[in-house]
Amino acid sequence: MIPRAPHTPHLRARAWATATAVAAGVCLVVAGTPGDPPRTDDAADATGPPGAAVAFASPLGLDARARAVGGTGAAAARQPVGAVALTFDDGPGPATEAVLTVLAKHDVRATFFMLGDRVSWRGFTAQRVAAEGHQVANHSWNHADMSTLSSWDVRWQVENTRSLIKGYTGITTTVFRFPYGKMDDRTRGIVSGLGLRVVRWDVDPRDFEQPSADTLVERVVTRVQPGRVNVVLLHDGGGDRQQTIAALDRMIPHLREQGYAFVLV
Ligand SMILES: [Zn+2]
Repeated sequence: MIPRAPHTPHLRARAWATATAVAAGVCLVVAGTPGDPPRTDDAADATGPPGAAVAFASPLGLDARARAVGGTGAAAARQPVGAVALTFDDGPGPATEAVLTVLAKHDVRATFFMLGDRVSWRGFTAQRVAAEGHQVANHSWNHADMSTLSSWDVRWQVENTRSLIKGYTGITTTVFRFPYGKMDDRTRGIVSGLGLRVVRWDVDPRDFEQPSADTLVERVVTRVQPGRVNVVLLHDGGGDRQQTIAALDRMIPHLREQGYAFVLV
C-alpha cells in the first residue's frame, strides 16, 4: 500500500458535489474515430468504426456513482471546468504496479477494465487495485471480439471474469467495456441483462501504438473538453507501457491545473 497525501475533507466534499453536478448536467456523445486500427497481439483497444457515434441519454450513468477521486490544493478547490475519468484496459499486467504508483503519487483514483485471464495470473495486482480505492471493471475474459461469439460464450466471458474478480477482490463488477469497443444490439443486451453498464470512451490517445510520452500528453490535454465527463482510454496491459506511465505522471497535474476534476465511470 502506497501512502497517500492526507486529504482535506471539505475540499473533497466540494469537489464531489461540483463534479457530480458537471456529470449530471451534460449529455455525452461517444464517437469512434475513422479508420480500422491494427489488431495487435497486445490486445489493444481499437476505436469504433466510422460514423459510429452513440449518444447516451445519461453521461455513462455518472449520477450517484460519480464521485471526485482525488485532488487537493488550490486547483481542486476551484469550481471544476469539467471532469476526466482515467480508464486503464487489458490488465492487470506488469505495468499495472507502476500505474498505481503514479496514481497514488497524485492522489487520483481511476477505473481498471480487467481481463479475466490476466486476473488469473495477477490476482494479487487486482487486489492492490481494489485496496487502493480504484474502480474495478470488466473487460471480458480474453479480449475476444464479442460480436463473433455465441450468446452463451458472451455470457461466459462476462460471468467468468466477474466471478474471478469477485473472488480476488470481493467486488462485483457493474461496469463493462467491450474489447475493441465492438458491440451490437445482441451483445449489448446480454451484458445489460447481466446487470452491467456499458462504458466506452471519449478520448483515445492511442497509447497502444506507443507514441512518445510528449505526444500522449498533448493528445489528451488538447482533446478533453470542458463541461462534460471526458472518459480517457489508456492501457496498463498489452505490452510496454513506459510511455503511458511517463505521460500519466505529467497529464494529471496538467489537467488539474486546467480545472478538471477526476471521476470514476
Ligand atoms: Zn482492451
